[in-house]
Amino acid sequence: MTEIIHPIEALEVRRVASSADILKPGDYCFIPKREPIRTFQPISIEPPQGFLRGVWWAFFGKRKGTKEIIEIRWPDYNAIIINCPHCNQPVATTKEHRIISVEPLTIEKPLGCAYSRSSPTAAPTVSFQIKEGQIMPA
Ligand SMILES: [Zn+2]
Repeated sequence: MTEIIHPIEALEVRRVASSADILKPGDYCFIPKREPIRTFQPISIEPPQGFLRGVWWAFFGKRKGTKEIIEIRWPDYNAIIINCPHCNQPVATTKEHRIISVEPLTIEKPLGCAYSRSSPTAAPTVSFQIKEGQIMPA
């Protein structure tokens, strides 16, 4: 299979309500930051090692404690999911991509297409800049 690489011309973005509505290149949605879920779980505290510590613990030691569980939810930053103008696959912004404006869409740094990498560690070969609702090659 030969891949035809054609330059990206300026393309208008289109905001959609959710990631499920993203269909065409340039369709995007805004995913607001989600706070982590904090839950507290009771735990029992084991007696300490050593005789004297054990005696002290038997009288004054805490038998029960709480353990805080923090569940990080994606995204833990404001994110944009946009369909790549090149391959029409969804690309998400990272924490490094500051969203200057959601409408018209302006992102501070160019976005690289993860699907244009030759290997997972290689740099993307396709990147584009979004400014004032227009996608331009970066
Ligand atoms: Zn792409």
